[in-house]
Order: sequence, then structure tokens, then C-alpha cells
Amino acid sequence: MMDDEEYKHLIRRCIRCSICKWIPQLQIKSKKYATICPAIDMYNFHPYSGGGKIILALALEMEKIKPSEELRDIVYKCTECGGCDVSCKFLNNLEPLEIIIKLREKLVDLGYGPMPKQQQYIDSVKKNNNPYNEPHENRLNWLPEDINIDPNAQVLYFVGCTSSYRRKEMAIAACRVLNAAGVPFNILDNEEYCCGSPVFRTGDINTFKDFMNKNVDAIEAKNIKKVVFSCAGCYDTFKVHYPLYRNYNFEVKHSVEFFNELIENGKLLLTKKVPLTVTYHDPCHLGRNAEPYKEWKGKVVNLMPLISIHVPPKPKRCGTDGVYESPRELLKKIPELKFIEMERIKEYSYCCGAGAGVKSAFPEFALHTAKNRIQEAEDTGAQVITSSCPFCSTNLQDAIHESDSLLKYYDINELLMMAIGITDEKLKEFLGEVA
Ligand code: SF4
Ligand code: SF4
Repeated sequence: MMDDEEYKHLIRRCIRCSICKWIPQLQIKSKKYATICPAIDMYNFHPYSGGGKIILALALEMEKIKPSEELRDIVYKCTECGGCDVSCKFLNNLEPLEIIIKLREKLVDLGYGPMPKQQQYIDSVKKNNNPYNEPHENRLNWLPEDINIDPNAQVLYFVGCTSSYRRKEMAIAACRVLNAAGVPFNILDNEEYCCGSPVFRTGDINTFKDFMNKNVDAIEAKNIKKVVFSCAGCYDTFKVHYPLYRNYNFEVKHSVEFFNELIENGKLLLTKKVPLTVTYHDPCHLGRNAEPYKEWKGKVVNLMPLISIHVPPKPKRCGTDGVYESPRELLKKIPELKFIEMERIKEYSYCCGAGAGVKSAFPEFALHTAKNRIQEAEDTGAQVITSSCPFCSTNLQDAIHESDSLLKYYDINELLMMAIGITDEKLKEFLGEVA
């Protein structure tokens, strides 16, 4: 993360090149899918881009502009997908995403953030331990009776608020796969709280730290060795952001990593054919944003106006160390499943549009972005788009519905269920349609 000194330095270094609006040139495969910034694709005006938000940050710092609701709206019309960050680092090595996160914190301090709709879910997180205004005691209502939970297990499945209350099929699928592999696992029950991601991404760091401490304390009290997530947002929060404020003594894995290992070790047998053509959407929080920060202690040395260097050199966080291979390997191991890639993948993936409070505050922006991604998936000729994040699931399914698309969406663990032979009614119906 960026301290105040570096923030003030970097916001002076943007050279207005606009590279942050596009995926890096060598990665571009077509004009249609050359862009990376959902905010620019929707609003098509420079201040909405990563570089444009840096100019706003500088203008605010230099008191050329005052904080206002108009400024707040522009800064919060951003999914914090990090696409601009990856592109900028190819040439300029600024950190637009870190600057946007810091700018939001500053707006919160100035009383101009977050958006009113986002404040509602932050209030709900504080009151109910989840952003959906649902009673905390109903957190486990999704759990079918026939799923085996082991209170003494050293593996913990962290469900997350969205799968607990809104995308229950994802929680059920993850647990069914764990049971099928014979992995003893526990869940936190009412001691699981929001991971804090929704409040972190809107700039409320103190509330974020409270939730981090509640979760880590609860997990460490149970002598857990490994925590498994099926939510990319929870995973990224534990893996990348908790260690910035607190160390913990357990390993974290997304289910795509853990289940791919179980298949490789022969513990999870994929015996059923799944004859579908499937494309995979990389969630930003499992992909580029899941790359951990590398420690750097040094200083910025100004060589001449606009030219400065980090001494010693600061490691670049370019998104290359995100989780990309596990989901692809896993899909390729499913018998008769044909895997096909979209144009923008891995660290150059296009966002689903739901992140950083955009789905609640600017639903039309979220949908516009998801429709763009669904079009890209349709252009591959796939029958199914899959992913590994409940936010992507909701938003991409909304876009499929709104665009009258014939594409189907399944969570990657639902496809695994099919390959194991645990086929629920919804999947059976679809398999019948495509047979
Ligand atoms: S943020 Fe980076 S890529 Fe974007 S305009 Fe500024 S220097 Fe160029
Ligand atoms: S984080 Fe994503 S939406 Fe926000 S400015 Fe950067 S590319 Fe655009």
C-alpha cells in the first residue's frame, strides 16, 4: 500500500498518455476488445480513467478544486478492477489503483465518501456483520442437512456474506465437492463475519480493521491450518490486505487452487462427462488484484522535474502472480469439457463490473460492463461462462438476462459437481438441453 509521501509524489508523475485506458498493445487481439477501463467505456471522458483520477487527486491536493459531490461521483465510478494499474506499469510504473484507493480514503476523511448507497451497506456491515441487511443468526441458513461438517477439522471453509445470503448455490457446491473428496472441514458458523472487503473498497479503513480482527481471532482460536474460499473477494482480502495490518498463522487458498490440487493428488475423481464448451472469466480479485504486495523500504529520489526513481528499485506489482492456471487446469481436467478462452484474460482480463461498491451505487454502470464481458464470452462460441466469485456470478447473470443471451452461467464448483456426478436439478435440465 502507498503512504502519504509516495501518494503526493506519484500524483505529480502522470504523463497523460492514456495507456491506462487500453490493455497493453502487445496483448491486443482486436479493436472490439482492446479497452481495459470499464469507467471509460461507460462514461468516455478522461477524468473517469485511472490517469484522469490521478489528475483529480493532484488538483485536490493543490487545492485547484474543492471536494464536491461531483468529484465523489467520478472517483466512485470505478470498480477498482486494477486494469489501469497493470497497463500503466508497462510503460510508466505509476500505481493508479493505489492512488484511487488512497483518494477514496481522503474523500471519506473530508466527509465526501462513500456514496449514500454504499454507506447503507457499511451501516449494515456494522450492525449485522453482513452488507445485505440480513440477520447475522441466519448466516448458515443455506447449509443443507446432509453436508458433513467436522468441528475438529484443520481445514476451514470461509463462506463469505454473498454466498451465505445471495449465492447459496456456490456455498453448497463448494461443500459438496469437499465432502466428495473426503476432506474433513469446519465452518465458523455465527463466528464468521464480513471479511471487510466492502468497507475497505469504499475507504473506511477503521471498520475494515475491526472485521479483520474478528475473523482472524475466530479462526486462530480453532487451531485451523488452512482456510479455503470460493469467493474471490474474501480470498483477496485475506491474502493481500489482512497482512498489511496483521499477520496470521494459517494458509489461505481459493477453492480453484485447493480442488485442482485434490484432483492432481487423486483425491477428487472426475468420472462424469460434461460435454459443454466453456469459457472462464478471471475475477479481478482472484487474478491481478490477488497478487500480494512485495515489501519495499526505500525512498523516491527526484532526478529532474517529472523524472524520479525509487532507491532501491521498488518491485512492480503487475498482476502476473494472480491465480490463473489453477482454474484453467481444473476445467481442462473435466472429461469432454471443451475449454475456450476469451480475448482479454489473466492480468489483462476485463472486469465483470460489480466491484468496489459499483453494483449498489451505480447499477447501470455495473450492467453496462457485464454486458460487454458477456458479449466477449458469446463471441468465443461458448455455451457456458464460468467463474469463481459470487459478485461476478450475480452481475454476469444479470447481464445474460438483460441481453437475452443464450449463454449459461455456472460457478466453477458447480461444473466440478457435474464432473463428480452430483448433478442438481438445474444442471440436469441444462445438460438435457445441450445433449
Ligand atoms: S496513469 Fe499512467 S498510463 Fe494513465 S495517463 Fe497517467 S502515466 Fe499514462
Ligand atoms: S480501476 Fe478499473 S474502473 Fe477504475 S479507473 Fe482503473 S481501469 Fe478504470
